[in-house]
Amino acid sequence: MSTVIQVEHLCKVYGDTVAADDISFEVEEGEIFGIVGPNGAGKTTTVESLIGLRRPDKGTIRVLGLDPTQDEDALQQRIGIQLQEAALPNLIKVWEALDLFASFYMRAVDWRPLLDQWGLSEKQNARVGQLSGGQKRRLFIALALVNDPEVVFLDELTTGLDPQARRSSWGLLRSIRDQGKTVVLVTHFMDEAEELCARVMIIDHGRIVALDTPKALIQQVRAESQVSFTAPPDFDPSSLKTLPGVSRVTEERNKVSVFGEGALLAHVATALAQQDLAPGDLRSVQATLEDVFLALTGREIRS
Ligand code: ADP
Repeated sequence: MSTVIQVEHLCKVYGDTVAADDISFEVEEGEIFGIVGPNGAGKTTTVESLIGLRRPDKGTIRVLGLDPTQDEDALQQRIGIQLQEAALPNLIKVWEALDLFASFYMRAVDWRPLLDQWGLSEKQNARVGQLSGGQKRRLFIALALVNDPEVVFLDELTTGLDPQARRSSWGLLRSIRDQGKTVVLVTHFMDEAEELCARVMIIDHGRIVALDTPKALIQQVRAESQVSFTAPPDFDPSSLKTLPGVSRVTEERNKVSVFGEGALLAHVATALAQQDLAPGDLRSVQATLEDVFLALTGREIRS
């Protein structure tokens, strides 16, 4: 596998704000690489430096072997960038937008199959202003693919979409990856990053706080398993402390959480059954990337 993006010691300062503070990372060919962090973390600064829209104060960047500050035009031919919401006039028709964008590139694909692939065939004569949020987003992705790019940069792919449209966008994103393209996905949705990305870089205040596979990040902050249930009145949680593998038991209001390792769920279920208890909500609680962010920064991502 080869490296398609290489960033070394990227720094960018705006007045008193350090937007990118010594950021270094690599993206491998064919992966979906996530850049996540709260608003103001430095995601846009980082990505726009990669595509030649911002000039870093310090650091070296190579995308497909090209330096975005020197070879912006050559780079634009080989990458795809998802437009921001306001970037297309409302009166332009869907097919006209695709045709126009195709004309910008030396290596443009036939855009008609893209209409089909992205579920826009019936809308090809509709004006952009008449599209639903989901259709517009699909059009923006189709436009980003019109030059058959090797690397695609997508920003806040599913913001404003309903849960079903989000899920279908995830499928479409995987299909881009399955065509062998490398995807850089900027998002503040941790579930999206966890679901889609081979590796995730978490940034906060312009610094990388973690970079690994979602699984490794989650294991790093919570190696233990957790089982929880709602306790009946008079339940004594200390009865669970001596079970095999249990490290601690907490109780908050009437919700009991048991932490530890091994076959935790089975041991807890058996112990409860011996007391004639079978709480309907007994379950194993999986840690998520949200927990990782909280553990690493002390904050919820949305705060
Ligand atoms: P994100 O995309 O994660 O929300 P940004 O990269 O847009 O973060 O911003 C990082 C920080 O840099 C923020 O504090 C933001 O206010 C500041 N910043 C970004 N662009 C500019 C700019 N052009 N001028 C001044 N400050 C900026």
